[in-house]
Amino acid sequence: MFKPKILVIEDDPAILSLVKTTLETQDYMFRTAMNGKQGLMDILSYNPDVLVLDLGLPDISGMEIIGKIRGWSNMPIIIISARSEDEDKVEALDAGADDYLTKPFSIDEFLARVRVAIRRVKTENLHGGEASSIYENGSLKIDYVAGCVYVDGEEIHLTPMEYRLVDLLSKNTGKVLTHNYILREVWGSQLSSDIPSLRVFMATLRKKLERGNPDNKFIQTHVGIGYRMIRK
Ligand code: CA
Repeated sequence: MFKPKILVIEDDPAILSLVKTTLETQDYMFRTAMNGKQGLMDILSYNPDVLVLDLGLPDISGMEIIGKIRGWSNMPIIIISARSEDEDKVEALDAGADDYLTKPFSIDEFLARVRVAIRRVKTENLHGGEASSIYENGSLKIDYVAGCVYVDGEEIHLTPMEYRLVDLLSKNTGKVLTHNYILREVWGSQLSSDIPSLRVFMATLRKKLERGNPDNKFIQTHVGIGYRMIRK
């Protein structure tokens, strides 16, 4: 059975000890580093499947580490940041991080994020990294070749813009996409003045996918940050 390896880079001893205890209790395989230099060496030698990364490290910034990793690896990166670092959070997600935890966080929150990241790794291993032409997630199905979206077996009629949104979100399932990222990919712009229209498109898309059924909630809102397609 595939047993994922997790690397945690965090300099705060209290958080590190909480994370360690949690991962040990859950029988995860992991290693920890308390600064960026050690962390980067561990990434190379330990070759983790998932990285949990504190943004505020004493030597190298978490942002720099994300930049280095994204040059050659697509491994899920969960960032840990303080509440005051909201802009940093957005910047880190834009730089390619998958998800974030805001200090202080609970064990349950932490484990939930780790599970999402591991599921992404497993799905990618399953498909050998190759993109499938059919997407299935609970009652949601997308035929990328035909450009058709189905919920509960029924075709949903979307506008071209709504389709591009669901296409982008589905291809990044489990990952928090920032407003900036979505605007860049779908609109080709990064104007913050476009965020209100993004919100409107997202609201109608969500309504169409839900079809009045609360079980069909696929798109999660992250206030001030962006959106995520959740894995059902
Ligand atoms: Ca720190």
